[in-house]
Amino acid sequence: MMKTVTKNTLDDSVQYLKSVGPKRAESFSKIGIRTIRDLLLYFPSRHLDRTTVLTAAKAFGYLMNGYDGELTVIGKVFEKEKKRFGKREILKVQFRDETGFFECVWFQGTKYFYSVFNEGETFAISSKPDKSKYGALQFIHPDFDKISEEENSFLNTGKIIPFYRIPKELRSGNIGDLSLRRILSLAVENYVEQIEETLPGEIIIQNKLINLPEAIRNYHFPESTEKLNSAKKRFKFEELFYLELLVALRKQNYQSKLIGNKMSIKTNLVNNFLKTLPFELTNAQLKVLGEIKNDLLSEKPMNRLLQGDVGSGKTIVSLIAMLIAVDNGFQAAIMAPTEILADQHAKNISAMMKKLQDQYPGSEYKVTLLLGGQKKLERDKRLQEIELQESDIIVGTHALFEEKVKYKNLGLVVIDEQHRFGVRQRAKLQSKGITPEVLVMSATPIPRTISMTIYGDLDISVIDEMPKNRKPIKTVLRGERKLPEIFRFIIDKKKEGYQIFIVYPLVEESDKLELKAAETFYEELSKTHLKNLKLGLIHGRMPWQEKEEKMLLFLKKEFDVLVSTTVIEVGIDIPDANIILINDAHRFGLSQLHQLRGRVGRSDKQAYCILVTKDEIVQYNIQQQLELDYLSSAMIEKYKSAIRLQTMVKTNNGFEIAETDLRLRGPGDIFSTKQSGFPDLKYADVIHDAELISLTKNIAFDVINKDPSLESPSNQIVRKNLIKHYSDNLQYAKIA
Ligand code: ADP
Ligand code: MG
Repeated sequence: MMKTVTKNTLDDSVQYLKSVGPKRAESFSKIGIRTIRDLLLYFPSRHLDRTTVLTAAKAFGYLMNGYDGELTVIGKVFEKEKKRFGKREILKVQFRDETGFFECVWFQGTKYFYSVFNEGETFAISSKPDKSKYGALQFIHPDFDKISEEENSFLNTGKIIPFYRIPKELRSGNIGDLSLRRILSLAVENYVEQIEETLPGEIIIQNKLINLPEAIRNYHFPESTEKLNSAKKRFKFEELFYLELLVALRKQNYQSKLIGNKMSIKTNLVNNFLKTLPFELTNAQLKVLGEIKNDLLSEKPMNRLLQGDVGSGKTIVSLIAMLIAVDNGFQAAIMAPTEILADQHAKNISAMMKKLQDQYPGSEYKVTLLLGGQKKLERDKRLQEIELQESDIIVGTHALFEEKVKYKNLGLVVIDEQHRFGVRQRAKLQSKGITPEVLVMSATPIPRTISMTIYGDLDISVIDEMPKNRKPIKTVLRGERKLPEIFRFIIDKKKEGYQIFIVYPLVEESDKLELKAAETFYEELSKTHLKNLKLGLIHGRMPWQEKEEKMLLFLKKEFDVLVSTTVIEVGIDIPDANIILINDAHRFGLSQLHQLRGRVGRSDKQAYCILVTKDEIVQYNIQQQLELDYLSSAMIEKYKSAIRLQTMVKTNNGFEIAETDLRLRGPGDIFSTKQSGFPDLKYADVIHDAELISLTKNIAFDVINKDPSLESPSNQIVRKNLIKHYSDNLQYAKIA
């Protein structure tokens, strides 16, 4: 420890730190580091452990002995060359240390990397080693850090060295690796003990965490790899614990607002309705219906997520829930993501209500459709129906939640495909003074870790079984070369009464992406391969009414083939459309492909999903999804499309697909925490930290169950920290 007297506090500006001053402080502030506390929490992006650095000769020995993990070698650049192979350029950089040579190879970004490695400079290279064609030690697309002479001698001290992200704002303020390291080491020495603990002592002890000052110290300058891992774990734990506290508080916030619309089964309405259905509900549908019914019949307001694959029959389940509400004298509303889908819901529900009325005279229920684009006169009429409670079931888009809509007695809201709406909608309703029961439905199964975090305030019901008459869809992956054969297959199947969707990724030709436009291909197909079939075209630029008209013509078999862009993602059930051909399938995301595939297979006929992509992608040989962890990020990038497509071939299971999607897209990309009103994760991630998520969830929910308003002395630390650091996220989670 240095023997300086520290007069400043953690909340003082970094400028008072030795070797910072006003100028550098200005640079720090550009990246959000203002106080000493901020600086202490600016952690390294990686560390280099001197104890794992090998000489070139040793590393080569490891390779020859079959070593299969990562290792680090430090060497000086002595030669670099770019080579051309046809269209491809590769970069080879030769390094040496006092024991021998090794080389690094880049296939991508060669121009950039060429400029990074200059003769005489020293780098630490970390990667899985390979053997070159000539038997030399080789690294392909390795991680690397440039090392100065000074650092090189420092590294020889056998310590674990932190490497920080140095954005250009810092560089231009004359702050580089070395100076930042020096500034931080002073800051840690002099100030870390001042930092206040943010977790209750009991939780720290029970979970064998290290305390906050120790964690900060070891995150920067670890005494050992174990200490570094403990430090990282402590920050992940803390972050997840507070996230789960917010989740628990939000959940409790809904539940404590008892609105007393405790419903009951009043009449035979639901039973009668079930008798009018041409099918029996699956066991899974019955199970989730039971869960929903429990919520409705209890005083606790429902706040439930209904998950089920495309075509698993969520809509019927939600309609039955709506009928229970209606049976109790309430209005029920269902919100769809698009106008075409809202219109379809309205038509389907009206038809079912008509059937009910025919079979059980007297049971008359009014269905009202509310859309954004309706004419004023018509809209006013519908608004009035809603306000006067002539409408029992109200179907619409987000227009349902606009200011002007005044519900007489809204008891239940169903939100279909909630991914696109987020949780804010519920808050909007509540701000209108309405606290209805809420059922959100999602066809994209949500991976477990995500349903424990940003959806953790919802109760979850899963329909995990398809209606019995469904055969699993056969999915195949074919190269473009096979298209003529595929068209012959389509022509044959048409003779058996099949209808076919043909999907293209974009509407208009885009030279840049070389995508095939639906319009061009519609013309071409009509003239060539499919000239004896009747073709229709539907695309994203059409007004929804026109799309719907086309879909209805397709349903009536006016067309054999519907050429389309992704607009058929949601839409009308076409029972005889049992083939879907997806072109340029590598352009689609996994869940989008799964959604598209869900358009077929809605009858007892064998359905087919034919994914067409570039021939070379078909040939990529991807092993088990599990092995993703062992591929380098560059490889994953390269194989991502192939992995997506082969996952589609391998499984029809939406959950498996969602998990793979999560891994491929990475934790930051798959869901917007912002939209959810929860903070972003900085340390933990929903792919690798599943166990910690589950653990912190239990602990946080336990804390809130025992002490809902965080009043007990041991929870004051939690309460203070929530208010201090999470005030933005507390809007749906009041702590008194
Ligand atoms: P989801 O909304 O989950 O994608 P839908 O509710 O639209 O699925 O159901 C898809 C189709 O399956 C609809 O035509 C629906 O009438 C039908 N369906 C729903 N439940 C069953 C069932 N238990 N047995 C047979 N068909 C069903
Ligand atoms: Mg649906």
